[in-house]
Amino acid sequence: MLEVKDFLARTFVNPSELTIRVQRLLEPLLKAPATAVSKTNEGMQWWQKTATQMRQTLLEQVVLRGVPQQWQQTPLKVEWLDTSLGNGYRIRKLRYQAIPGLWIPALLYEPTIVKPSTPAVLYLIGHDSKGKSSVYAQTFCINMAKRGVYALNPEWFGFGQLAHPELEHGCMNQLDLCGVRGVSVFYLSLKRALDVFLSLPHVDPKRIGVTGLLGGDRTHLERRQQFYRREHMEEEAKKAAELGYKALYLDSGWDTSLASSIWADDRLGKQKDFVKMLKERYGLSLALHTPLAGWCDVNAYPIEARRKSKDGQVLPSLCSAAPAYLQTKAKRLLKLCEDGAVFLMFDGSAFTGECYYATHGHSLPLTRHEHCLVYLKLTQIVKCKFPKVLIELHAPIVAGVTVRYAPTYFLHSLPHSFDELWGYEFMWDPMDDLLSGRALSLYYVRLAYDIPIYLHIDLCKDNEHALIFWWYASTCQHLGVGGKHPAPKVWEAHKKAMRTYRRIKRFYTQGKLYELDETVHAHVLRDRKLKTRNSIAVLSIFKLATTEVEREIRFKPSDIGLPDNLRLHCIGVPYHQKGSEVTLWVRLPALGHQLVEVLVSR
Ligand SMILES: [Zn+2]
Ligand SMILES: [Zn+2]
Repeated sequence: MLEVKDFLARTFVNPSELTIRVQRLLEPLLKAPATAVSKTNEGMQWWQKTATQMRQTLLEQVVLRGVPQQWQQTPLKVEWLDTSLGNGYRIRKLRYQAIPGLWIPALLYEPTIVKPSTPAVLYLIGHDSKGKSSVYAQTFCINMAKRGVYALNPEWFGFGQLAHPELEHGCMNQLDLCGVRGVSVFYLSLKRALDVFLSLPHVDPKRIGVTGLLGGDRTHLERRQQFYRREHMEEEAKKAAELGYKALYLDSGWDTSLASSIWADDRLGKQKDFVKMLKERYGLSLALHTPLAGWCDVNAYPIEARRKSKDGQVLPSLCSAAPAYLQTKAKRLLKLCEDGAVFLMFDGSAFTGECYYATHGHSLPLTRHEHCLVYLKLTQIVKCKFPKVLIELHAPIVAGVTVRYAPTYFLHSLPHSFDELWGYEFMWDPMDDLLSGRALSLYYVRLAYDIPIYLHIDLCKDNEHALIFWWYASTCQHLGVGGKHPAPKVWEAHKKAMRTYRRIKRFYTQGKLYELDETVHAHVLRDRKLKTRNSIAVLSIFKLATTEVEREIRFKPSDIGLPDNLRLHCIGVPYHQKGSEVTLWVRLPALGHQLVEVLVSR
């Protein structure tokens, strides 16, 4: 009889045959123009015609599908603003219309002396909160202008002056729901930038180029030299200190190469001095991103740490269970702790894959469970020597995604195991994660387990009620924040929220969470004496919709683990206690948060 395993292993189509079939299908299509072009003039003409047609079709049927005629046909509108003079160049501020009503701010860098037929380059940047005022963009464009080339640097959606929730580039696809291709807005905004060039009398239309830099490229080696120096980190430390934070967390970029976990002395100075500077000048400790074998520069580890395939080839990736990896990594992590790191984030924890290296001493191939146990061992080596260093371990089998393979409590609370869990990647767009309902899950995790969750969130996505600050403070016991909101009102709200949070932090980090409602979180410190005027609980009340509301919230002390005969005094909102029942009247702004502090009355 056929075993189930064997039955499932039988494939319907041979995978290699499938590849061959696809190749057979595609090859003639690809070869036709190539051979034709190389052989005849006619072929060349055919290809040029075909290419033009293909572009046109793509533009009409994909990019501009459903786009109103008016968007495409409105003549270019440019408003020229201030000009400032530099040494050998000029910067002209302008805004141009991408589509009717949508203006893009931009900077035009021009040579001081403009000759006829001047070349021009469009300079584009990606994720960077500073947008066109970022230093590297200015450096590049100034250099172009000094060399006699025009450079135009438009702002990109969601960043710089266009950092507005309604201009998030991730939201452009919502236009597709209305039958208008969202990608058209990107296309037209850049096309209009080229139109700006064409409107300048001295620009040579045949010599227009485009280049740029993605924000995501910043952690590459050469970028580290440029962006990850001591002065940059001090700038961040200043912000962290102003906000009232306790530690400065350095994400990817502080080490010699990705996840080498070797402090980059050349850019940051000695780690001990850096730690001293942080403490003395800013009152901050040092926290570090230290990804594991699944996400790192493999060249930063011994060759014996690499994986081997079934047929004996050494692969260009690491095996988590290779003794050479464990020893090297442990030694480096211990050194970081010795020199003053107080928090390590074990990112890059995903299963490193099958490995057939016999001398690694694991099963052949390596199993997921063995992989997990190696990371437990690594954690234990560090925690044994530095029990106070906090370690956050990302999900140990799949990582970088919002689902888990092993449950949250797997490997937790074993001797010297990890301290904290990772908050499911709700870091990139914490507002959207909250409003879409995804991040409501954190509330249930907080109700279910005492394992603290670590999450750092982008405060640039927050509003003036510090909604996301409070939501994640209320659900994650270890909260990290990054990004300074460009609106002073919001930044001030964050500073105020942080002051309050620090005063009552123990309720959020060590209190027990009681469920009154998904949007009414009661954090109660059970170890407090029930003495008059002792504060005993805090309530975080949220409004997660875009309408303001007045709510009446009723609860009994026993609903939050307190004796029903206790008289409570509430600070923050009007309240009333009749018998045991407490009623709160809360007026919540749209997307808002209200804090209520609960004291023992008598
Ligand atoms: Zn993006
Ligand atoms: Zn191995």
